[in-house]
Amino acid sequence: MSDQTVRELIIIGGGPAGYTAALYAARADLEPLVIEGFQWGGQLMITSDVENYPGYPDGVMGPEMMADFRRQAERFGADYITDDVTKVDFSEQPLRVWVGGDEYRARAVIVATGASARWLGIESEEHHKGRGVSACATCDAAFFRDKDVYVVGGGDSAFEEALFLTKFASRVHLVHRRDEFRASKIMVDRAEKNEKLDFVLGAVVEEVIGDVKVDALRLRSTATGETWQVAADGLFVAIGHDPNTSLFVDQLDHDENGYLVTKPGSTETNIPGVFAVGDVQDHTYRQAITAAGSGCMGALDAERFLATFEGHPGTALTANR
Ligand code: NAP
Repeated sequence: MSDQTVRELIIIGGGPAGYTAALYAARADLEPLVIEGFQWGGQLMITSDVENYPGYPDGVMGPEMMADFRRQAERFGADYITDDVTKVDFSEQPLRVWVGGDEYRARAVIVATGASARWLGIESEEHHKGRGVSACATCDAAFFRDKDVYVVGGGDSAFEEALFLTKFASRVHLVHRRDEFRASKIMVDRAEKNEKLDFVLGAVVEEVIGDVKVDALRLRSTATGETWQVAADGLFVAIGHDPNTSLFVDQLDHDENGYLVTKPGSTETNIPGVFAVGDVQDHTYRQAITAAGSGCMGALDAERFLATFEGHPGTALTANR
């Protein structure tokens, strides 16, 4: 199906950034079409309690919060397609977006496809996600008060997560597959001085053991292949994130890790009318609240951009700039 209507705005991605952009855009009468992804909700769908989002003093479950975000934008007229975008063409106006064989057109597009944590890719990890296995210490460390936890990774993220976890856990073990770290020296120094933290080097996590909760891990030596079991209450996987930008990297400016580049202090990309918000352009903060704030900025930037066009949705495009 080819929908020839030229909408004001398409938002790609249904996480805190995309839904907040949709809320602001819908309230500004831009009638946004949100192509939210087959698995809408983003990374918060694999988070249990969210205790650091202002406005929820008793905490909230991640999926419930995303359903609230979604419903709030819907109330003001956001339309949803619960499917994945498969292709985009931003080479000329109108901007074009495909979901399989269906084409949608708009004057402005906000990209809010987020980032995905890298996982180890073992079956038992999948089983325990949100139940003792996490990829976000900022989100989940407080649930591991006085517990014994393991962190996997040797980069700055792993050290940051491990150091943060020492504020809660009784013991934190950082497991790294090599005996040299990728993390900056200052992080390593800090970790080495922390009495709650120790290192298991030259090892990988082979299995998460436990029925409902995590009880133990099986580790494997990368040098000898020998395996052994350790008691553990939790596992934090901190082996990096990948921005979900494969659809865009041949058209939008990005850094060496694939994160979209926006103009300082704005959500504008290198293509007029295309904006990037949330984790897809932020590898520093990566919080629901910062993604939501960025989504708001994207909607305001898109609104400003659209004001430079004459006419109304569906009419011929006449750009004033
Ligand atoms: P990263 O630097 O790419 O480190 C990923 C780590 O995970 C590496 O040590 C890697 O091991 C390990 N790893 C990857 N896949 C693995 C697997 N399947 N099993 C076991 N280990 C695996 O990623 P990052 O730590 O997320 O950092 C990303 C960027 O953000 C970096 O530029 C970093 O400096 C920056 N950052 C900065 C800060 C800060 O300054 N406060 C905080 C966080 C991140 P190998 O070393 O063997 O490859």
